[in-house]
Order: sequence, then C-alpha cells, then structure tokens
Amino acid sequence: MAKKIGYDDTPFLPGTRWRVHDGNRPQPKVVRPGTFSTQDVPGKPPSDAIILFDGTDLSKWRSCVDGGPARWKVENGYMEVAPGTGDIETIEHFGDCQLHIEWQAPAESSGEGQAKSNSGVFLMGRYEVQVLDCYNNITYPDGTTGAIYGQYPPLVNACRPPGEWQVYDIIWEAPRFDGDRLIRPAYITVLFNGVVIHNHTPLYGRTGHRQLPRYEPHPPIGPLRLQDHGDVVRFRNIWYRLLKRYDEV
Ligand code: MG
Repeated sequence: MAKKIGYDDTPFLPGTRWRVHDGNRPQPKVVRPGTFSTQDVPGKPPSDAIILFDGTDLSKWRSCVDGGPARWKVENGYMEVAPGTGDIETIEHFGDCQLHIEWQAPAESSGEGQAKSNSGVFLMGRYEVQVLDCYNNITYPDGTTGAIYGQYPPLVNACRPPGEWQVYDIIWEAPRFDGDRLIRPAYITVLFNGVVIHNHTPLYGRTGHRQLPRYEPHPPIGPLRLQDHGDVVRFRNIWYRLLKRYDEV
C-alpha cells in the first residue's frame, strides 16, 4: 500500500477541490534548473524550456517583412540586427510564458536618445519591452531601457555599459478577449539584470508611437518579435517556458 501523505480531514481551501495539506493534490513536475549566464558564457536553460535561439542559427525565426528566412547575422554565438532587413519573429506562437532573452549594445554604441542601440522585444508581436542603451543616455522615461514603450518607465535604470550582456527575464500573461471585448488586460513582470523593473503591471494596450495604446482583439497566442530599428544590437540565449496554473501538470 502506498504510503499515505498529507491529510484528508482538513478544511477545503476556498474555491478549490483541495484540502489544506491535501496529499492527493498533483505533485509539482520536476524541472532541472538551468545555470546563470556570465558575460563570456550563456547560461543553460531549465529542462522544460523551449529554445528559440541557442547561438547557432535562425531556424526558429522568420522575416516580418516577407515571411521568408530571417536575414539577421549570426556569429560568435549571437544574432545581430542587420539594419534595414526588418523585424524578425518566431515561427512558433505562444501566450503566457516565462521568457529569457539576453542582449548587448556594441561597445562602440554611438548616437543618443532613441537612436542608441534601439531594438525591442515584442511579446505576441505587439507589446514592446524597449531595448536601448541607456547606460549614460537620457530619453523620455517611457522609452528608456526596459520601458513598456509609451506606457511605463522601468522602476529603475539597471543598465550595464554597452559591450556587456544584459538580461531580461519576463513573466507574461496574455490579454484575454471574449470576442471583441477585452476581459482581462495583459500583465507583465520584468527583471532586468536580476532587478525588478515591472511588477505584474497591466498594459494599456498594443504598443504605439505618439498615441494612446489600445487593445485590438487577437488570438491567445502570438510570435515573439525582435525589432530592427536601424541599429546594431545583439541577442543570445533566448528561451521560454509555458506559464501554467497551479495543479496544472
Ligand atoms: Mg525599440
């Protein structure tokens, strides 16, 4: 007989089928944790991560311009924006997730304001977390590094100098629509180089420029999109994990 775990005479937790200390509640799935990146070596993803870019090729990506192969450069274990070739996006579409992505402004990053190693991480192809070199660079706060562009500045500026790898760890909850009606906004949490810069923040809507963001209904899954803003920016070690609910195994 299986060893009894937990209790079956305790009260039910409100709104659930589970008792306090319920031994029948699903056991959490085992995930082998990854390792942290160093400047020289990208970390290893956790065992249940879906790899979008491991430093070798762009086979998981396509051009947003024509749907053909992504035309950005791949070398030395990173991909690099080939200015003028356009945004790229993942072939795979997904919704709620934990996303890990590392980026680097080249050491010789020049320009100022919005024109200093500008790129962007667009969740579901629509909602931008700004990529920009703001180590010593002032711009409008809702357009600075890690901003939800046009909506929220980051809580702090945790930029490393250009030439160093920077890390976004993003927890993303897709907006919910009932037909054309928004029933729950998107929520985002972002850690930038290990520092919280957005904490379960509800988005106003789709990213825009000089306009009020608004939601437009879209499918529950979408691609991850990276921006070609005409500047050279590098990316490496891109992966995500599907964000599940409690007891969903
Ligand atoms: Mg941008």
